[in-house]
Amino acid sequence: MARDADLILSIPLPMSSREDQISWSFDARGEYTARSGYGALRCFRQSAALVASDVDSNFVWAQLWKVTTPPKFLNFAWRAARNCLPTRFALTIRHVDTPMCCPICRSEPETTLHALIECVAARDVWDESGLAMLQGNFGSFVDWLATMFAYCDSVVFAKYLAVCWGLWWRRNDIVWNGKIRHSQQVVNGCFTMLESWFHANETLATAVIVPSYSSKWQKPDYGWIKINVDGAVFPDKGAIGAIFRDHQGRFMGDFAKPFPHQTLPEVVEALGVHEVLSWIHERSRSKIVVETDCLRVVQAIQHKSCPNTSFGFIIADCLDVLQHLVDVQVVYARRSANSAAHCLAKGVGSFTSLHIWGYTPPQCILSCLHYDV
Ligand SMILES: [Zn+2]
Repeated sequence: MARDADLILSIPLPMSSREDQISWSFDARGEYTARSGYGALRCFRQSAALVASDVDSNFVWAQLWKVTTPPKFLNFAWRAARNCLPTRFALTIRHVDTPMCCPICRSEPETTLHALIECVAARDVWDESGLAMLQGNFGSFVDWLATMFAYCDSVVFAKYLAVCWGLWWRRNDIVWNGKIRHSQQVVNGCFTMLESWFHANETLATAVIVPSYSSKWQKPDYGWIKINVDGAVFPDKGAIGAIFRDHQGRFMGDFAKPFPHQTLPEVVEALGVHEVLSWIHERSRSKIVVETDCLRVVQAIQHKSCPNTSFGFIIADCLDVLQHLVDVQVVYARRSANSAAHCLAKGVGSFTSLHIWGYTPPQCILSCLHYDV
């Protein structure tokens, strides 16, 4: 009963009344597809601990090559899925004389799944990435890949592939060069690579309201305020953080808010933008730039795209509020230009209630604020 109550309370409700609709929660548009059905089936099987490494590799192969992402990420994912990475486990199988255990944690055999997903040296990077990690008893990396592919859309899936690539690069640097790269450096590195590739291919350039591609935070125009907002997900909740700065880059305030049970990154990102827009509306403010690093939210707002899902309902709410606002823009910023809001959202994960408003920057964002100006 308590679990059911929690699940019901975790459904983000639209602000305006709408007719009830049936939505398939395993698809980004809320519609049933064979692909999402396959994914759901796998999730159910894993939660029932019935999983076995029987993923149809043709399915993975076919899906993988549909993802729009740099070829090197695709090639890497395919090599990993085929067990072609020179992990210690793979080398041992090929009769290379090497210990089988992970050279970093030394607690498990170094399989591809261990190196990229399960090892402690991978978890900090996944945490940093803000990408949700499904809990499950995955039999192999290809098993994990198939599950994640069904779980998210291809834009988000490209990010998972980028992080996998970054993790392997980091692992090799530790083993061969003795260099330990900070998780933030790894995530920024591979996400920047992904963004640069998208920009070079001009797939993103036409998709945002006001392009803002600087890798560093930019001051708003004279007389304007910029609000950076970001979301973070934790095992049991999501949290958002928003930071207000004026045209000279001076800190004006911040607020943050946890969302119990919300663990879908894009839903949390959308909730963050909605919170900020509501804040602006309630105070009748104008001349404000709202900056998020979630491209999907910006695209959905620009295209007025409100799929029949929780995400779509929040976007619809954002559009409702935007109708009443003058001189308010929602723009996309690179992740590296949104780091202060990111740190705030991550930092408030321990809060259980609303952190309403602060005029003094919290400790966790001081270095980001300093770097930005
Ligand atoms: Zn390990």
